[in-house]
Amino acid sequence: MGTLSALFAPERVAVVGATERQGSVGRALVDNLTAGFDGTVVPVNPNYDSVRGLDCVDSVSEADADLVVVAVPASVAVDVVREAGAAGVKNVVVVTAGFGETGGEGADRERELEAAAAEYDLNLVGPNCLGIISTPVGLNATFAPRSAPPGSISFLSQSGAFVTAVLDWAADQGVGFKDVVSLGNKAVLDETDFVATWGDDEDTDVIVGYLESIEDGRRFVETAREVTRETPVVVVKSGRTEAGAQAASSHTGAMAGRDRAYAAGLREAGVVRADSVQDLFDAARALAGQPVPETNGVAVVTNAGGPGVMATDAVGDGPLSLADFGSTTVDALRDRLPGGANVYNPVDAIGDADNDRLRDAVDIVLADDAVGSAVVLAAPTATIDFDRLAADVVDLQATHDLPVTTCLMGGERTRGAADALSEAGIPNYFDPARAVGSLATLERYRSIRDRERPEPTTYDVDHEAADAVLDRARDRNTTRLGVEAMPLLDAYGIPTPAGEVVGSPTDALEVAERIGDPVVMKIVSPDILHKSDIGGVKVGVPHEEVYDAYEDLIARARNYQPDATILGVQVQEQVDMDAGVETIVGTNRDPQFGPLVLFGLGGIFVEVMEDTAVRLAPVAEVEARAMTEEIQASPLLSGARGRDPVDREAVAETLGRLSQLVTDFPEILELDVNPLVVRPDGVEAVDLRLTIEPEP
Ligand code: ADP
Ligand code: MG
Repeated sequence: MGTLSALFAPERVAVVGATERQGSVGRALVDNLTAGFDGTVVPVNPNYDSVRGLDCVDSVSEADADLVVVAVPASVAVDVVREAGAAGVKNVVVVTAGFGETGGEGADRERELEAAAAEYDLNLVGPNCLGIISTPVGLNATFAPRSAPPGSISFLSQSGAFVTAVLDWAADQGVGFKDVVSLGNKAVLDETDFVATWGDDEDTDVIVGYLESIEDGRRFVETAREVTRETPVVVVKSGRTEAGAQAASSHTGAMAGRDRAYAAGLREAGVVRADSVQDLFDAARALAGQPVPETNGVAVVTNAGGPGVMATDAVGDGPLSLADFGSTTVDALRDRLPGGANVYNPVDAIGDADNDRLRDAVDIVLADDAVGSAVVLAAPTATIDFDRLAADVVDLQATHDLPVTTCLMGGERTRGAADALSEAGIPNYFDPARAVGSLATLERYRSIRDRERPEPTTYDVDHEAADAVLDRARDRNTTRLGVEAMPLLDAYGIPTPAGEVVGSPTDALEVAERIGDPVVMKIVSPDILHKSDIGGVKVGVPHEEVYDAYEDLIARARNYQPDATILGVQVQEQVDMDAGVETIVGTNRDPQFGPLVLFGLGGIFVEVMEDTAVRLAPVAEVEARAMTEEIQASPLLSGARGRDPVDREAVAETLGRLSQLVTDFPEILELDVNPLVVRPDGVEAVDLRLTIEPEP
């Protein structure tokens, strides 16, 4: 994939569909382009000799442009793009609407547009977009009412309306942009192309995105994973509450819904996810203006107790923690501050603090090795001059080179100070929690940048044996498999209790005599998904009852569904459930992000609690282990009520092996093991259910 830097640095821009007509897109484009562009603007319209005082040409092939902005009606837009391609143009922005977003004819038109772009190898933005901006060359190829102030944030948005809103807001927020792109329908170029481009761009410090969808999840993850090692990417993804809409027959399918897939994908990509628009630009501003901290210890310095407590509460939300000052720091603060002051973190220089006292306190804490970042809070008092405080903070931040945010509380009086801070890249907020939140984002990015990235383990498995299990199911013409497929887990080294599927009560007894006493017996039928719901699982069956139990299980199945396919009864070794915790491990396939693995507490509460962790497969064991710690029920695994802690490593290995299974067999659409019993010394898969594609 080539870099798109030429798209953002054209010398001659043609506007096809340029007009004089008041309120038209064609006119807004010409006006925006001529407002500050370093290069030449060429209007294209056979009906005019000139537009807005510029000589007009009849067709795009006469424009000799290196960027073409298409604003003609949809019916002729594809022809214009072809003509541009034939004339050797490589970069095209189609603002025209009436493509895929309208369905029907529009969707056909979009396919033609894609074909034209492929034929001429075009970098094509849109269609149905607002356009692009690049501040270094003064390029505003949009019809937005306002351009972007210059800066080091590059911004992509799937919504054009959101771009106009952000540009409007940014102007008085001290947020500046390098490039801006409105993606529109993403017929050709999508988010991944721009993340890749900006990852290589010296002038982009932070990449910010508003996304409703990701075109190719795996490609995005692979690209962003590399980019985020050096350039932070912050994304707000809308549609978070969208229910797991896909029809899913398994637990994993229902729980690993679309948003969980996005969360897992963005996490793997190293993207910082923002919850709101405010969050998005708070994060962007902090990342653009401040260095990344070296430790998670934060110092809070204030002249007012209340805000200090609020900041401390916000620190408690993580991943920051209050820095534990060294004795030199504490002594220095004690020397400098009056008797009633708090010399421990949060430092309270108290209400009568003047500028010098506050400045010295900040200087002292920033010199402490345990301090990775600081937040300076000040309430307006007669002894504090905010402009001087701002100048001091700017100065100290630069000297110590640590991230600092401020919270100068007040209205009009803070305006000048806030501007001076913003000028120096220091975010200032009225709300202490937001000031801390910005530092937390920096810390979050640090842990992403520095995270371990081990390759997933490749296990020694019996691929052929697994293949044979799936083959047998296909021979039976079924896509739903249950405990009869337990050998699949055996083949991939996941421990299972001894068990066998039998077709007669005599065979059941024979197997039971080999396995133990008592045993567990289960109905085996592709038509019965939840066996215990129909009384299809019998636990603690002594040998003398095996015969009757068999007959009873078959009868229950027939009663439930007379024409149900019954494969027999599984006779299984009884597992000591009290010695362990019932968990669920599963996999699912997301249309964008591919195979996912899931871990959570198992048993009957699994769907109610939704307490699960999800990752892209294949998952490395350290990540899989982190999944066992991520769930809220994690303390249960650490040994509640005097029990021994369970074997998290064995869970991690199981997730790793399961990852390999679904990677090796793409025909496995979803699979869950519920329960996977986890004990202090290992795991056992007690139940299995999966869905496969009819053809491998
Ligand atoms: P289903 O999920 O279809 O109802 P399971 O095989 O998961 O069927 O069995 C339901 C429950 O029965 C399990 O959650 C577990 O508590 C218990 N159980 C199943 N198999 C065994 C076994 N081999 N040993 C002990 N308990 C078992
Ligand atoms: Mg089960």
